[in-house]
Parts: sequence; structure tokens; C-alpha cells
Amino acid sequence: MAEFEAGLLGAETFSVPGHCAVCDRDTAFLVDHQYCFVEPGGRRVPNWRERLTCPGCDLNNRMRAAVGFLLAASRPGDAVYVTGSVTPLFQANRSKRKRTVGSEYIRDGTTPGATIADGVRNEDVTRLTFPDGAF
Ligand SMILES: [Zn+2]
Repeated sequence: MAEFEAGLLGAETFSVPGHCAVCDRDTAFLVDHQYCFVEPGGRRVPNWRERLTCPGCDLNNRMRAAVGFLLAASRPGDAVYVTGSVTPLFQANRSKRKRTVGSEYIRDGTTPGATIADGVRNEDVTRLTFPDGAF
């Protein structure tokens, strides 16, 4: 794997073929050097976790992995909870699991479990307000 990755390095931007679990199709993931690591000799190594962006869903490698895990661990009709509700990751999850519920941690005194004006639910993950077995 390290040899394969080393063979990809050198260009400012490049693509890597693969299959996107969110789009459910083969694609060419885009890689650049945003958030890259710089080795002691000065060679820049892409941040594989935060790049490898799918041109179809615009999710990076980390976010696609999270959606892929969720899809593998749930069935289409399942209710699913995602910590976050204003992110592309939440939107991708909801596109695959219609009963996805998301929340944000709002620190303005909003009651846990309440929804603010723009439809964002407030939850503190250390004290969730959902009933047992909701997800
Ligand atoms: Zn995709």
C-alpha cells in the first residue's frame, strides 16, 4: 500500500480510481495537498483521510467511510442518530436513511431535545434526550 501511495505522489493534484459507497458508483477521487503532511525532507504527503474527495457527493474519505459504516450497520427503514445536522455528512446519511435524526450542541441555553428556529435539534451527547431504543 505504501508503494502504491508513493507512486501517486508528485503532481499537485491527481485522481485515484475507486468506488463511492455514497454515490454507489465507480469514480475518480480527487486528491490535492490541502491539510497535507510535510516530511522532514520537504516531500508533501496528501492527507488521505481528509482528501480523496468524490466529485459526485463531494465527501472526503473520512466522511464516506462514516456513511459506509452507517449503511453497513443499518437497514433502509431504521431510525439512525448522527451527531451533527448541518453538515454534508448528515445530508449524505439522510439521503440513504430517511429516518436519520441529527443534532448540534447549542450552548445558548436552548433546552436539550428542543429545536431552534432553523430546525436544528439541540442535544448534549453526554445526556441525550431520546427514549431508550429510539435508534
Ligand atoms: Zn460519492
